[in-house]
Amino acid sequence: MTEKLLTDVEYNYKLITERIAEAAEKSGRKYEDITLLAATKTVAPEVINHAISLGLDHIGENKVQELLSKYDKYDLDNASLQFIGHLQTNKVRQIVDKVNLIQSVDSVKLATEISKQSLKIGKNLDILIEVNIGKEENKSGVMPENLEELLCEISKIDGISVKGLMAIPPICDNSQKISRYFHKMHNLFIDISQKKLDNVSMNILSMGMSADYYEAILEGATMVRVGSSLFGARIYK
Ligand SMILES: *Cc1c(COP(=O)(O)O)cnc(C)c1O
Repeated sequence: MTEKLLTDVEYNYKLITERIAEAAEKSGRKYEDITLLAATKTVAPEVINHAISLGLDHIGENKVQELLSKYDKYDLDNASLQFIGHLQTNKVRQIVDKVNLIQSVDSVKLATEISKQSLKIGKNLDILIEVNIGKEENKSGVMPENLEELLCEISKIDGISVKGLMAIPPICDNSQKISRYFHKMHNLFIDISQKKLDNVSMNILSMGMSADYYEAILEGATMVRVGSSLFGARIYK
C-alpha cells in the first residue's frame, strides 16, 4: 500500500462528502440526512480503516468470503458493517453476528434464514428489501409489483426488522434515464411508508453508486453506496 493511495482516498472522501452535501441541500435536506456507505469490495482493510479515520462510518461488503477474511482487521469501533451483495441462504449463519444490516433481502426464504440465525444468537437484525426496479432478468431483487406482498409476509417474521429499500438500477447511458429509476424507487418508498405496515419502517432508501449518487440523492436516496470514486478503480486479483 502506498502513501499516494491514502492521500487519494482523503482527497476523494472530501470531494464526495462535498457533493453529497450539495445534493442534499438541493433536495431540501442536510448532509446529515444522507448516509455515505463505502462499498469496500477488493479494498484492503488498511485503506478502509484510513477512510474510517477520516470520518467514514458505514462500510459494506458484498461477498461473504471476503467479509470473513477481512473481518478481524476492520476498525469497527466507529463504523457500522453491512452486507450489500447477493446472499445465499447457506451462508447467512456466517455473517449474522458480524453485520448491523443486510441490504439485499429479496425472498421469504432468505428472510426466514436470517431470522432463524439471528434468533439463535439473541439478535434482532435490520434488513432492507432489494427491489429489481429495472425488472431485469437474472438480477436479484423483488419485482416492484410483488414488493408489498413480500413485505407483508416478511413483517410477520421474528428476529428481523425491515428498515427500508435498496436498489441497483440498470446501467444507463445518461443521467435522465437513471434518475427515472431512482424516482420510481422513491415513489415505492413513499407508497410503502404511507401504508404503515406493522414491523416495517421506511427509514432507509439505499440507491446510487459512484457514477450516479448525486442524481440518487436528488431523487430522495437517504443512503448512497460508493466504491470506486472513493477508493479508485477496483483491481480484481
Ligand atoms: C460495488 C458496489 C457498489 C459501489 O459501486 P461503485 O460503482 O464502485 O461505486 C454499490 N453497491 C453494491 C451492491 C456494490 O456491490
